[in-house]
Parts: sequence; structure tokens; C-alpha cells
Amino acid sequence: MDSNIPYNARHLVGDTYVVPGLTNAGFVRGLAIDTCEDDAPYAVADIDLLGITHGHADHFAVAHVLRANGSRVAAARDDASLVENPDINIRGMFSWAKPGDALTTKLFRGVPCEVDEYLEDWGDSRATTIPLPGHTMGHTGFLTLDGVLFTGDALYLTELWERHPLPYAIDPGMVATSLETIRSVECSWVVPAHGRPIERAEVGAHVDYHLTQLALIEELLLERLSIEKTTEQAVALVSEARGLSENPASYWLAVTTVKGFLGELLDQGLIEFFVREHAGWWRTL
Ligand SMILES: [Zn+2]
Repeated sequence: MDSNIPYNARHLVGDTYVVPGLTNAGFVRGLAIDTCEDDAPYAVADIDLLGITHGHADHFAVAHVLRANGSRVAAARDDASLVENPDINIRGMFSWAKPGDALTTKLFRGVPCEVDEYLEDWGDSRATTIPLPGHTMGHTGFLTLDGVLFTGDALYLTELWERHPLPYAIDPGMVATSLETIRSVECSWVVPAHGRPIERAEVGAHVDYHLTQLALIEELLLERLSIEKTTEQAVALVSEARGLSENPASYWLAVTTVKGFLGELLDQGLIEFFVREHAGWWRTL
């Protein structure tokens, strides 16, 4: 193996490698796509550019180390501020008020990293960028010149749903559209950030399963909101039905995701929102 490739990298096809970890990262001829949580594998690699799929700390864990070693860092305009100041995620989670330290999830705590360029201005021949919003506003996939699509957190494999029954999403409608984009991209492999790389032939089944889960959550809300519920009750009913574990981190992630579903159903004219006794209520129309 080349001495300038991350030492634990798994060869996929052509010049494209997967750097395994809590987050699967990519490597193509000195271009890194996201990072794993450990900077050691990168010590031997010459990395001149790092593209980040989105502004969650587990995707840019050691970006600051790569940048200190001379790499430029690129993120989507909408997510760049989350990379440069991960605290913004924590404040957003708490409606911009200041949460106590006990409420902040490890997922959102990260080491800030300056962003040198926006993915919107991407012009690198080693990969093309493919916007896949919904998990975050600026969430972006990378299709390498070898036809490997790194999808970040836009696609959850079927076997991951047991452990992640309510994947974080700020806009489920956008997630669904992005899943169709993933389905339509001509590629040889798809590498989700969590789980195993899958071959093209397998993609459709995983996309269908993800879409079905989104539809089930919408159906659940429409059915259960036939009797009006507060926002808090709506979060609780979805969390319980999906079998989430009861802890502050899961709760706060669920708050955002369930609000994403409520906002979408409201936009579709399928539910209404009103305030009563100074609480916010939702009801199926
Ligand atoms: Zn994420």
C-alpha cells in the first residue's frame, strides 16, 4: 500500500478508500471526505483538501488537525458556521437560549475548525458534490471519480434502524427528496457515514426502507393527533412508539426531529397548530 494513504484505510475501487471509524471517512488521492475520530491514521497521509458532508462534530472530529497540517477545509455555506463554531448546534437545539452543560449532547460538542472554502464553489476533479439536505440544511454528498458516493448521514442502512429508530432530521421532506437523489446517482458503491459500504444494486432496498420509516412516522402523527396534543406530548408519543431510550441527549434530538415532522405536516395542510393555556397544540385536520 502507498505510504501516503491513511494506514487503516480500506481500498474500495480505483483510488477511493474508506477510512473506518465511528464515522466512515473517505480518501481519494489526498482528498479527505469527513474524518474519523482519530487523527493517527492521517499522520502518514498527504491531505491537501478536506470536504465535510455536514456540520455535526462526529464528521469533522479531527478536521482541525488536518488543517493544522496544511489541508484546506471545505463545507457547505449553511453548515460552515457549525464547523467553525459547534456551539451553534447546541444553541439551536435549545431554541437559541443557553442550555446548561448537562443538556448538551456529545454529538454536537466538537473542536472548532476554520473553513477555507464553500462546497458551493467546489471545483476539484477528485470528486463532485451532491447536495443532500434534510439531516442539516447544507448536508452534501461526495461522488468520487471512481463512482463512490459518500452519503454522510443522508441514508441510514436498514440494519441501523434498530439502534437509531428516529434519525435526526430537520426537514423530513428534504430527507425524502435526498434519498431519491441517492437512488438516481450513477455510482458503483455507496458509503454511508455509519454502517458498511454497499454496492449499487443494494441501494434501492435501503432507500425504500428509509422512506417507509419516514412515512410510518408521519402516519403515526396524523393518527395520534386526531386527539390534540401539545408539542411535548407529540415528541413523547413518537419517541415511545419508536422505542427511543430515555435520556436527555435522545430527548433533545427527538425534539428537533419531531418538530421537523410537525412543520412539514402543517405545511401540507394536514394538521393545525394553536395555542391554548399558553401551550402549543397540534391537531389533525
Ligand atoms: Zn449528523
